[in-house]
Amino acid sequence: MSAAIPEAFHGRRYNAYNDWAKKHYGGRLQKISVDAGFTCPNRDGTLGFGGCSFCNNEGFSPSYLREQRNIAEQIDTGVEFARRRYPRSKAFLAYFQSYSNTYAALEKLREAYGAAIDHPDIAGLVVGTRPDCLPDETLDYLADLSKRVFVELEIGIESCDDAVLKECLRGHDFSCTRDAFARAAQRGLFLTGHLLIGLPLETHESLMRGAEALAALPIDALKFHQLQIMRGTRLAERYLADPENLSLLDLNSYFDSVIDVVERLPPSMKIQRLGSEVPPRVLVSPDWGMRLDKFAPMFEERLRARNAWQGRCFRGQKTEDR
Ligand code: SF4
Repeated sequence: MSAAIPEAFHGRRYNAYNDWAKKHYGGRLQKISVDAGFTCPNRDGTLGFGGCSFCNNEGFSPSYLREQRNIAEQIDTGVEFARRRYPRSKAFLAYFQSYSNTYAALEKLREAYGAAIDHPDIAGLVVGTRPDCLPDETLDYLADLSKRVFVELEIGIESCDDAVLKECLRGHDFSCTRDAFARAAQRGLFLTGHLLIGLPLETHESLMRGAEALAALPIDALKFHQLQIMRGTRLAERYLADPENLSLLDLNSYFDSVIDVVERLPPSMKIQRLGSEVPPRVLVSPDWGMRLDKFAPMFEERLRARNAWQGRCFRGQKTEDR
């Protein structure tokens, strides 16, 4: 248990990824989404068709990706936009975000990641994927790349509970997630996890068990997303057929759940994201009317109101920040 808020939090009550980036890179690391045309084993029939019950990649892909296939052009457009919107960005990272970006032969990965790294504005890569799409040879290749540029591997955890993973048709269990983090950490990669809060069958107890499990994994940074029901998903079909059949979190319950998780995490784990915003044309429910930049200040306010902070209930061994 931590009796006081660590000084390393820079006056906040949690360890913000942006503060870490500022300390190590002198400013904001701005991600530029790129779409290399990968698919996913949960969509191409290898594990299933139709994907995870909550998944609609349109919900988080910028519109320019639909118009441009060439990676260099996508980066040009993304960097131009980011320079205007985030003038204090220190460096740009190519973000392979949609679908499973390690689900291809090594040659195709080399080609896609190589095109991004060769772009003069790109200082590193962020590669989002599923834990079951990380064979050792891919991890070895990413580890090799990380000797040249910053490489962040973002692994979709979504839930640490097997019943929840099964219900959302994820196609892998939590032991697969554990194994992926362990093998990736052996290679020294910077590892981010992506967690969804509010999935069907997730209870407060399962979430707290999950938080304890995550606290023990070699995760450098964690992203939180609220469950949003998006058009074109299996969850949307279920919700629209009978809204009473799905209970969705309200904003306060969401923040309380995130705080309960964060209190159990080690102080060294950086919190990279606290919520998500999808275009209104895609969103079915819940509509909190929240812009992305409002999550962090509201979260901080809620932490203060509860006199809570990251790591307050962490029971493991503290590790050094890196
Ligand atoms: S969430 Fe990821 S793993 Fe699931 S269907 Fe979508 S792209 Fe595939």
